[in-house]
Amino acid sequence: MTRYRPPAVAEQLEALFACPLIHDLAAELSDLTRRTRRHPLAMHLAYGAMARVYRSSNRLDAELLSGDTWAHVVELYNKGAARHPLGVEMDPNAPVLLADTYRHVREHLTSEENLEVLQVAFTTHSVALARGTGLLLPTGGSRTRPHPSRTIYGDGTVVRPLYNRADHGRQDPDAEEHTRHDGQIYGNNLVAIAVRGPLAQQRVVLAVGRVQERGHEADEAIRLIRQVHAVAGDAIQAVVYDGAFRGVHHETLMSELGLIVVNKVHAGRRVGDERVHRQVPLGEWSHVVGRRTCTHTLVAQNGSIHEVSFDDGGGLVLSEPLVRKQVRRYERGKEGWRFTLGITITCPRDPFVGWISPHPQPGERGYGRPDQLRLLPESDKHFPVLYGIRNDSESINAGYKRTLIADRASGKGWRRQVLDLMSWGLLSNSLAAYSADTSTTSFGSAADLPPV
Ligand SMILES: [Zn+2]
Repeated sequence: MTRYRPPAVAEQLEALFACPLIHDLAAELSDLTRRTRRHPLAMHLAYGAMARVYRSSNRLDAELLSGDTWAHVVELYNKGAARHPLGVEMDPNAPVLLADTYRHVREHLTSEENLEVLQVAFTTHSVALARGTGLLLPTGGSRTRPHPSRTIYGDGTVVRPLYNRADHGRQDPDAEEHTRHDGQIYGNNLVAIAVRGPLAQQRVVLAVGRVQERGHEADEAIRLIRQVHAVAGDAIQAVVYDGAFRGVHHETLMSELGLIVVNKVHAGRRVGDERVHRQVPLGEWSHVVGRRTCTHTLVAQNGSIHEVSFDDGGGLVLSEPLVRKQVRRYERGKEGWRFTLGITITCPRDPFVGWISPHPQPGERGYGRPDQLRLLPESDKHFPVLYGIRNDSESINAGYKRTLIADRASGKGWRRQVLDLMSWGLLSNSLAAYSADTSTTSFGSAADLPPV
């Protein structure tokens, strides 16, 4: 991945207004569109995104009031609106749009109903935008080796509230104490799902939301992944997410959406610095060699499948991880999607392929198998190709937080913060579309890429 170079302000504004997204989203809120006459609703959405460029609405207002900035913004806006089939053009003599007016409209944008419409519309149109840049296309990769451009990823982050807890009366009523892998933090736990290409600006944010029940980040992540899947369908092959997922979540994503989940396995316990993974028995696989039945006992450990044998002293010995041959998927009525993983069992007499289910089996209690077994385990050489995409989740969190002052939320209450993260997503996505249009080394279609 090339080193990230923050785009210049002029380039960001150019990209934002050239992008159809602000007009796409505004058109989905037709009631509100009719009520915002002087400054079209799409211009308000652009204001929210521009506030991220300037890191605060005070700074943005100062900028818009200086020189001919506003005239330039109106010109860029109208150019984009004229190109969009549902674009609403603005009176070139309209007064400067400032924070007071934006905040009034923001109250409507963040009503329960409108915010839900916006969240879904953001996903619908961002998936379309991603396709336009060569991502989430229905070709390329396979179940065995999902293509990075067909792999979505996400993470949660806690955004600290605008005011301190001690600042009574101005407190954020929605902020809570969260315990994450990165420690205790007070604020709102937001989640973003995205897809990306190999170049710096080729990231498209696909969904944003907020964890509604403390400690249940995986539930919100799955809700957002469903939302993306409802639009992108089987163009998605895999999901990369950090440690919030356990067996039950893996099973949901595999069986309900038919997706391959790529992440590390939770360790059973720690011994010093070492993570010790428990072993999940998988059963016995037999084949006939000559006139005798030969039996192999398999277990899952740290996502991989191993063969168990006994040493001379009767101690248990695990083989090296068995090599994956193929991942297959089929549909089974009410149970939904079923996966099966073919691995090569290296029998010295006659090697053969054993097929193993990653789903809970009759007689097994709980979700130990999907929790500990992976269709694409860490030991496989394709794992780092996909797992590496996860680093970009941290870039999303860091990139968004860089646009906040002192790392604090730009508004009070989780709804405004979700809208704000979405506004940042508009900016980020418009840059992805802009660089795909202007770059000669564009990502192109996933089908054009060499197989991975
Ligand atoms: Zn054998």
